Amino acid sequence: MRYALISDIHSNLEALNAVLDALLKERIDQYICLGDIVGYAADPNECTEIIRQVAETTVLGNHDSAAVDRTSIEGFNALARTAISWTADTLSSKNKKYLESLDTNMVFEGDLVVHSSPSDPTSWRYIFSVDDAKMEFQHFTGRACFVGHSHQPVAFVNSKNRVVMDTRTSLDIEDENRYIINVGSVGQPRDLDPRASYAVYDTDQKTVEIKRTEYDVEVVRTKIVKAGLPRFLGDRLLAGR
Ligand code: ZN
Repeated sequence: MRYALISDIHSNLEALNAVLDALLKERIDQYICLGDIVGYAADPNECTEIIRQVAETTVLGNHDSAAVDRTSIEGFNALARTAISWTADTLSSKNKKYLESLDTNMVFEGDLVVHSSPSDPTSWRYIFSVDDAKMEFQHFTGRACFVGHSHQPVAFVNSKNRVVMDTRTSLDIEDENRYIINVGSVGQPRDLDPRASYAVYDTDQKTVEIKRTEYDVEVVRTKIVKAGLPRFLGDRLLAGR
């Protein structure tokens, strides 16, 4: 089976469409969304509707949760809060109901999918370092856990209880190792590469590939400004930060 793993779309319709276009050439069997469909950019309804149609499974992100009042916005910075209130006012009741229905984690082929971290999916912890990853490996049992949330694609590989960070874009999944894999962000990458990020997991070939796709950032910036959202939310997309 070939799985497409997409995360942190953040209402960026142009990035989402570019990624789905690129994935058409990848012979994908199932699409899995790792959450944060909404928040930051100007197309929350369009992105939610597309994900509802395309994704076999979707887990809840912190921005999705905040937009439907399941997570307090206290932990969010001022820009994110502004975007969340705008998103909550803009989302249709049908799309809100869909976001409300999402679970925080799911398992496919024995692997875990969660937006932030396996240790406590609703405290929205980040996995940035090897030390963070070491702790998280104790909180799931399968071979791999796929996450989003930091918007930075990276893998943590646990080989004989030694954990290393691996930033290569092509990863062989070895039977004797365990993995935490961040697939990066479709709609707001923060690794200084503005191209949309996503992953293709081939369970027969036992490979995970992190892929990047360009999209029209200018269109998204214009929409953000027109919607009355903070200008910086558009500017940051140019730099991928
Ligand atoms: Zn996010």
